[in-house]
Amino acid sequence: MSPVIHWFRQDLRLSDHPALRASCASALSRGLPWLPVFVWDPTQAQATRWVDARMGPHRRLALHQALTHLDRSLRAHGHRLLVLQGEPAQAIGQIVSDTGAAEVWTEHLPAPQEEAADRALSSAASLGGWRWERLEQGGLFAWDDLPFDVQDTPDVFTSFRQAIQRAGLLAREPVAPPPVWPPPMWPRPLDASVCALGVDRWPEALSLASEVVNAEPRASFPITESEWHIGESIAQAHWSRYLSNALPHRYKSTRNGLQGHDFSTKLSPWLAWGAMSARQAQHALQRWETEHGASESSGWITFELLWREHFRLLHAKHGRRLYQPSGLSDLPHPTHDAGAFMRWCAGRTGHALVDAGMRELESTGWLSNRMRQIVASYLIHDLGGDWRAGAAWFESRLIDFDVFSNQGNWAYIAGRGTDPRGGRRFDPDKQAREHDPDGRYRRMWGDS
Ligand SMILES: Cc1cc2nc3c(=O)[nH]c(=O)nc-3n(C[C@H](O)[C@H](O)[C@H](O)COP(=O)(O)OP(=O)(O)OC[C@H]3O[C@@H](n4cnc5c(N)ncnc54)[C@H](O)[C@@H]3O)c2cc1C
Repeated sequence: MSPVIHWFRQDLRLSDHPALRASCASALSRGLPWLPVFVWDPTQAQATRWVDARMGPHRRLALHQALTHLDRSLRAHGHRLLVLQGEPAQAIGQIVSDTGAAEVWTEHLPAPQEEAADRALSSAASLGGWRWERLEQGGLFAWDDLPFDVQDTPDVFTSFRQAIQRAGLLAREPVAPPPVWPPPMWPRPLDASVCALGVDRWPEALSLASEVVNAEPRASFPITESEWHIGESIAQAHWSRYLSNALPHRYKSTRNGLQGHDFSTKLSPWLAWGAMSARQAQHALQRWETEHGASESSGWITFELLWREHFRLLHAKHGRRLYQPSGLSDLPHPTHDAGAFMRWCAGRTGHALVDAGMRELESTGWLSNRMRQIVASYLIHDLGGDWRAGAAWFESRLIDFDVFSNQGNWAYIAGRGTDPRGGRRFDPDKQAREHDPDGRYRRMWGDS
């Protein structure tokens, strides 16, 4: 019987997943089986113009953890995640034709590459007579609730935040996992599909990641430790622990820290892989504030989540323009010095603070916001490098890579995004004096 396919893309969880609920409800209402899939694109492990692999080892480990947890959660409901391999639009098209699927549901990711895949699938669906549905989710706010049209999103963050606050806009209540699950496709032999890896088989690039990533005792986000793995229940446990330790009251004064488990929320890797949604994080914080009292400091976490939201909406508004050499600006094309870029990547620029940051990133897949600003500024403003190369390196290395926040922040620092001051240079010597006055961080990640 033709299944309803649910394509998990970035929201790798069961709760607060409107597209998941909708795909299950549709299968149930039509009496059809249901098939959850994920597409691994092998080009993610390949070199690009700028970097050795679009998805480096730490990020692959994070994805492997997220998929393993998702599969385990699905099995509790009688389903198994089928991993497909290939270019996403082609792989989805192929599985539709192999199974005679009636419908494909997924989440909408308003980034250029994903939009292109969606356009191809939308045309294929019209031609093939199957139903293609994608739902907007993953942000704090439903687009319908915004006090402006998405295309009119204010470019300047402060104007955006004020418009949201003036409208008294709140994140909608998160939704529960599907209350009833449709019957599975299994045990039909889907392994026969040309693009399916089959049951219990993961792409080697992912399953081998745990062998090449070493435990790093200095890591601020120690992803190899079980309580830091990327998974839905682990994300919730982490956030509950953060809240029950009353850390939101300290957040504002510690958030510019460089090293440690608690100086910031550390939510970003779980948000990036969709193990937790932004509105789940926000609603849990609001409940905690109602019980324990809100403070300027706890409110600052909401403020930061608004930055995330803003970069997402700016993508929906500006799309590909954010990927042009000049970004949204009229500046000339940036220069690129391959040698300087390689030294920056390897943590061998000669500036101790910058090099410490780049080594931390390479060893752990994570970096504090302050260090991200410092190393990005150094590549752009001190080494005269191309901001897009830096963004590509972060995409490869960060376990919390998020296309919207990464491109948006890099463009911002380069003065090619939406910074009303036209870009920011962070003086690395001044930053070292202010944020690493005793040199502890530099010693910790020093040349070894
Ligand atoms: C050059 C550069 C590249 C970046 N690339 C990414 C990226 O790929 N993925 C990513 O999630 N963040 C990125 N950031 C933003 C920020 O550095 C991280 O979100 C933050 O350090 C994650 O740690 P945390 O969860 O403890 O953050 P907290 O300080 O605890 O903040 C809570 C949440 O607010 C959001 N947030 C905080 N600061 C920002 C910001 N500047 N922009 C957007 N959202 C923010 C994040 O979702 C974060 O998890 C980048 C920043 C810079 C300067």
